[in-house]
Amino acid sequence: MTKKTGLRLAKRLDEVGFSDIVQVRNKVMELRTSGQIVHAFHGGEPFFDTPEPIKYAMMKALVENKTRYASSSGIEPLRAALAEKLQTKNRIEATAEDVIVTAGGAHALHVAFQAVLNPGDDVLLFSPFWTPIRDMVTGAEARALLVPTTTARRSGLTKTLEQFSTPHTRAIYYNTPQNPAGTVFTREEAEEVAAFAKKHDLIVIADEAYEDLVYEGEHVSIASLPGMAERTITTFTFSKSYAMTGWRVGYVVAREPFMSGLRKLVLYSINGVSTPTQWAALEALSTPQSVIDARREEYRAKRDLLVSGIRECGLECKTPEGAFYAFPEVNKIHKDSRKVAAVLLEKAHVATVPGVVFGAQGEGHVRFGYSMSTEAIQAGLAALKRFFEQQPQTAK
Ligand code: PMP
Repeated sequence: MTKKTGLRLAKRLDEVGFSDIVQVRNKVMELRTSGQIVHAFHGGEPFFDTPEPIKYAMMKALVENKTRYASSSGIEPLRAALAEKLQTKNRIEATAEDVIVTAGGAHALHVAFQAVLNPGDDVLLFSPFWTPIRDMVTGAEARALLVPTTTARRSGLTKTLEQFSTPHTRAIYYNTPQNPAGTVFTREEAEEVAAFAKKHDLIVIADEAYEDLVYEGEHVSIASLPGMAERTITTFTFSKSYAMTGWRVGYVVAREPFMSGLRKLVLYSINGVSTPTQWAALEALSTPQSVIDARREEYRAKRDLLVSGIRECGLECKTPEGAFYAFPEVNKIHKDSRKVAAVLLEKAHVATVPGVVFGAQGEGHVRFGYSMSTEAIQAGLAALKRFFEQQPQTAK
């Protein structure tokens, strides 16, 4: 038989992984199907449903036949409202022309990396980081350089970034509030990253998915700092602030020369987000700030409940400053976080995500999401406590 070589995948996908978090989700579904109770701390979705006015706005758009092709970069009223929001809330100088509506934050990030990276480029990522980022960088045939966040915050961001940078460094991925550790970078830290980017002529790809979930300190959009709007591509999503994970809507803000590239990439990947979804997103933007603030306070109470419960189990856990995850140290159970997550799921029916999937710097931790009902957090903590009471707590 002749050897066939035509049916092969593009080489650039060889090193691109597929989400480990999905594997945890599958295991949880398997356990649930077999009738077991699982305390689901592995997720990353808002605990509340999409608010009614947003759903009705979608229905209204359908009834009014707003169902046709729209501009591939987004409907004008939504882009105009986003520009207004960016100016007032994020202090980013933007007009409707600087905004493109995307299929969620993940798509915004994908087009951002595709727009600026060349094969052989390096990208600095503070680690632990949101898992898909390294795969997106690899998919653009570039290399991720992992910068340990804890070291950087302790020894100084500039010094640490200098240390991990190479002559091929072209961009920095800057996520605040961060997934998975809940880190919120301060204004001074944002200024350091901005100065570093300017000094080395780097592009910043900012990910502000959790901008509304800051409990300690303030959310600073790095593109709002002097001289940064022109070198920053900032990505946002409706998923977390408005409980719209399944709607797949987000946006990206940037300047030329990046905008032309981003427009092409959005055109040829999706040719625009579904038109009725965009009308719903426009309605989401009119959510009063008081509603967003009240929800943040609910999240804060959940955070405090979870973190104190985890500490009562004898684990060390930093208080996360933002987002909706806690990232305790679990070395005393086992040094391999995959083993810890497996044991917690098997023995306590507590589902978490192994820290190592967020980069080598995440090893020794597991991620707990606390976007759950208070009762579900309490039940999960009770299961965790029972597990620890039965375990000899020696390091393995
Ligand atoms: N950035 C971070 C840090 C995230 O955690 C997520 C979602 N988990 C996203 C971006 C993207 O979310 P979506 O694609 O749902 O907008």
